[in-house]
Amino acid sequence: MRLVLMGAPGSGKGTQAKVLGKRIKVPHISSGDILRESIRRNSALGVEAKTYMDRGELVPDEVLLGVMEERLQESDCGHGYILDGFPRTVPQAEAFRTMLANHAAHLDHVLWLQVPTVELVRRLSGRRTCKECGSSYHLSLDPPKKSGVCDKCGGQLIQRDDDSEETIVARLTVYEKQTTPLAEFYRAQHLLSEINGVGSLDDVLERMLGAIGGNA
Ligand code: AMP
Repeated sequence: MRLVLMGAPGSGKGTQAKVLGKRIKVPHISSGDILRESIRRNSALGVEAKTYMDRGELVPDEVLLGVMEERLQESDCGHGYILDGFPRTVPQAEAFRTMLANHAAHLDHVLWLQVPTVELVRRLSGRRTCKECGSSYHLSLDPPKKSGVCDKCGGQLIQRDDDSEETIVARLTVYEKQTTPLAEFYRAQHLLSEINGVGSLDDVLERMLGAIGGNA
C-alpha cells in the first residue's frame, strides 16, 4: 500500500507515520529525515539543504526530487511505503505522479492530519530531539525520564535548529501557502481523507486505519 501522510509541522505526522508503517508493514520514508541525515554526513546535498531548512523554507525541487526518486526505488519499497513530508507542494505531487506512472504504480490514500495552530506551536516549541538517534520528546507532553537525555540511547536531547520560535512561524506560513493546495489536488482525485490529529497516539492511529479501510 502506498500512502502519503500530510500535516503541518508539529501535527505528529512523523510519529504517526512510524507507528502506522509498523502496523501495516511498510517502510516510513520521511523527506525531512533524509535531508537531516545528509546534513549529519555533511554531504553536498546536506550542505545545500541546510541553508533552506534553517530558514524554515522548502528545499528546491532540483535538489529533492532526485533523492526521493532514488529512495523509492530501494528494495524495501516493493510492497509500498508511507511518505511523510513528501510531496509538499502541487509541483512535487505532479512529479511524484510521474514517478509512479513510470513504474506502473499508483497511490492508494492520502491522509491529512488536522491539528489547530495553537496546538502546533505548543508542540513544536517544546519538542526536543535526540542528537544521536533522532527520537522525539516534548518538555511537558512527553518528557524523557532524565532531563536532556534520550531514554532510548542515552544521547543528548537538543532543540532542532528549525524548531526555534521564529523558524516555527516561517514553517507554518510556508505550510499554509504551499501545502494546503496539495490537499485540494488530492481531494479532486478522491484520494484524500481528513483525520483529526488531536488525541492519544492510539486514537489517531485507529482513525488512520479506519480511513485506509482497516487494511492492517
Ligand atoms: P520536516 O521534518 O518534514 O518538518 O522537514 C524539515 C524541513 O526539511 C522542512 O522545513 C524543509 O526545509 C525540508 N523539507 C522536508 N521535506 C521537504 C520537501 N518535500 N520539499 C522541500 N523541502 C522539504
